[in-house]
Amino acid sequence: MRFRQWITGIMAGRNGTDQLCRFLSIVTMVFLLLSLLIRGTGLSSVFWVLGLLCFFWGIFRSFSRNLARRQAENQAYLRLTRNIRGRFEGALGRFRQRKEYRFYRCPSCRTWLRVPRHKGKVQITCRQCGERFTRST
Ligand SMILES: [Zn+2]
Repeated sequence: MRFRQWITGIMAGRNGTDQLCRFLSIVTMVFLLLSLLIRGTGLSSVFWVLGLLCFFWGIFRSFSRNLARRQAENQAYLRLTRNIRGRFEGALGRFRQRKEYRFYRCPSCRTWLRVPRHKGKVQITCRQCGERFTRST
């Protein structure tokens, strides 16, 4: 419990770990791994330095007391990556439901549509554009 209080005391009034920090720690690991994989080449040290920069940037952000600034950065990061994160979460959601549902893209507007499995051939009506098409489930 002492340790927790100590940590809480240190982190009081500081930014802590936000989404951008988590992203930076992943990028750090990717850079350091790449650097190890191609060690001996000139590019290896570039990746190493980039990895360290991301690492220290993440540490700096976690311990920063300028909360307004750090939150603005985090919001900018979330805004910039919204599309990518949305796609990733969509793919993850489809994967999780793969046993109960099949997923088809509307041939005209590319929206993802979900249909229950094991219903034979069904006519699917797109909820976005009204396009109808037949697929087997
Ligand atoms: Zn459609």
